[in-house]
Amino acid sequence: MDEKIAPHLEELTRALGDLEKTGIRAEFEKLIAFRVPPDVAKETILRKFGGKRKVLKIKDLSANLKNFELTGRILDLGEKPIRPQEGTNKGSSRLYTGVLADETGSVLFSSWKELPGSVGDVINIKNAYTRVWQNRIRLSIGEQSLVSKEPDSTLPSLSELSGSQTKKLIDIGAMDFSVNTVACVIQFSHREVLVKGRQSRVISGVLADETGRLPFTAWVELPGIDIGSIIRIEGAQIRMFKGMPSVNILNSTKVSQVGPEEAKNLAFTFESAVKDPAPIKIEDINSRESMFDVAAAGNVVSVRPGSGIISRCPECGRVIQKGNCRVHGKVEGIRDMRIKAILDDGTGSMSVMFPRELAEIVYGKTLEEAEQLMFSDVSKDAVYEDLRRFLTGRYLAVRGNASKSEYGISFVAEKAWIPEDDLAVRVVELLRRLGPDEENKQGECSSTGGIYLA
Ligand SMILES: [Zn+2]
Repeated sequence: MDEKIAPHLEELTRALGDLEKTGIRAEFEKLIAFRVPPDVAKETILRKFGGKRKVLKIKDLSANLKNFELTGRILDLGEKPIRPQEGTNKGSSRLYTGVLADETGSVLFSSWKELPGSVGDVINIKNAYTRVWQNRIRLSIGEQSLVSKEPDSTLPSLSELSGSQTKKLIDIGAMDFSVNTVACVIQFSHREVLVKGRQSRVISGVLADETGRLPFTAWVELPGIDIGSIIRIEGAQIRMFKGMPSVNILNSTKVSQVGPEEAKNLAFTFESAVKDPAPIKIEDINSRESMFDVAAAGNVVSVRPGSGIISRCPECGRVIQKGNCRVHGKVEGIRDMRIKAILDDGTGSMSVMFPRELAEIVYGKTLEEAEQLMFSDVSKDAVYEDLRRFLTGRYLAVRGNASKSEYGISFVAEKAWIPEDDLAVRVVELLRRLGPDEENKQGECSSTGGIYLA
């Protein structure tokens, strides 16, 4: 009897933690005492105590998520033997890989345990996690994950799920496996890159539709296609590039031009697609995993420490402390300037990174002028303090890319300007919101921001 329940208890411990402390073991024993079969008892306990776990759809997946639950249909499944690592007494193991899909998208997965189903079956995974491998987000099923086959499911059928999904650009996420889309080419250039020691010509550019923009890369020639072309892309693969989904056109991808008659029915034209993006709510930026080339406007509610003059490693560009690079050790640092500020538009707040060229514009001082300030002042934080005084409360518009990290949304500005239209109105509004007591609290705003509005 004990031998029969031991593996179930082990599995429960991995999924739910210490069973003794939480009283879960007693619950389990009670069910066994009532002659409930051990595997049914395990499922019952999991349903009862695993309820706090996040249940996600495939579109919600992002890098480095842990301990979530997901249900999907297996679209593809393969296995390969993995040689045992030297020095361990484990026998050779198998890695199962494939594609899992639900109505929101599809994702590559890898599993260290055999799955209780095959192609076409719906499985439920508890305690799943994600990791990034070869620039793709993968769903990982590990030793601590629990996988069960779902006999009944409302998920779309295998044939409905296996085709590429047709999506607007804004709905394409880093976890998408293969997509179809219709978009306009608004940037287009060739470059030579070295791929496995061979010179290859690559096309890169930007696609746009009425919902947004995404970068694309083509590893094949695209005859007749240039800036202004409206194209239908079928079976493109999505890769991550700098935290952003990027549309990859491969040999297997079909690309065709959309004729003028059909183009009339689209919700965008080249003229509308190529227009500068209008500012959107920070709330909307925060609600997404990433956004490419969007604009927002808001007040600087705080300037983050680490803003001002910094030193970078000449080898890798990392910010260094006291002349020491985390990777390259003692190095002669290169001076640089950057600003990290929290921008708030009343709907939400986000951390915005201004690289040197933009930091100089919004601060109104060049790196050299800031250095003068640093050398002339006894305080080592002179530049940071000056930046805080100068920028806090200012109304700024930014344009760039937003991506979610474990610290929340970070926005890297590629353009920044002061909108003139409602500057005076905004300042009055901000002062009213801050109130006289709040002024001394500046700089304490957490990265989740918004404390002034709470
Ligand atoms: Zn370095």
